Amino acid sequence: MRIDLHTHSSVSDGTDPPGDVMQQAQAAGVDVVALTDHDTTGGYAAALSQLPEGLTFVPGMELSCRLDGHSVHLLAYLFDSGDAVLAGECERIRTDRVHRAEAMVARLAELGTGVTWAQVTAIAGDSVVGRPHIARALASDGVVDEPASAFTKEWIGMGGRAYVGRYALDPARAIALVAAAGGVSVLAHPRSGRDSWMVPDDVLAQWAGCGLTGVEVSHPEQESAERLRLQAVAGELGLVASGGSDDHGTLTGHRIGCETASPQAYEQLVERATGAAPVRG
Ligand SMILES: [Zn+2]
Ligand SMILES: [Zn+2]
Repeated sequence: MRIDLHTHSSVSDGTDPPGDVMQQAQAAGVDVVALTDHDTTGGYAAALSQLPEGLTFVPGMELSCRLDGHSVHLLAYLFDSGDAVLAGECERIRTDRVHRAEAMVARLAELGTGVTWAQVTAIAGDSVVGRPHIARALASDGVVDEPASAFTKEWIGMGGRAYVGRYALDPARAIALVAAAGGVSVLAHPRSGRDSWMVPDDVLAQWAGCGLTGVEVSHPEQESAERLRLQAVAGELGLVASGGSDDHGTLTGHRIGCETASPQAYEQLVERATGAAPVRG
């Protein structure tokens, strides 16, 4: 059984509509797929309406959190999507994301790039405008070679010249909100390196104490040595060792199904959740 618990659609910053993501999951030989768009459950209806026969859909999302200036992503699964507190926080994050994107485009204009807000919103289409859309605008204008090159100190990487911070949740609070909505939480790519924060073991232990359910061990940007370390820490702390592709469509080269969670890990997550159930097509 192939289980991919981390994918994005165009409802957040992926390139393909939720229904297409479901089709691609099946074509890639995936049996269970979680849709984990950033701070939104807006893709569920479209994904479910086009769910291929035999594919199991796991409702999820990836919550934007921050601790001491470090960006932290928390995957949430099988929570009650009607929970007013959690939905309210997501809306606040999404609204602020647009203001922040506008501020970044303004700074890029001051820096002499030709990127405009109209251009960025056209790239985003119906999605929540985010840094990937700005990165694509910078690449299409030839400011950077490829979108990934925009995520540096020179441009829109954290702390970069045109970077603007935004509203995000304290991770411990996010874990509690997800649990209160009957869901389970998995810390996304805690050791993916590059520009992102390598979450130390003692912080993982602290969050495990707050009710964190699991950690993402298998992720394309996590090296094997880090995976082994994470696996060991997860064992010590009683955390579920999860995994997923973090596919964003063409943005990440359609890698859906390239990383997976074990059937045991998936089972443990489903068992501990009370807010919603997976849906089989
Ligand atoms: Zn992430
Ligand atoms: Zn992600």
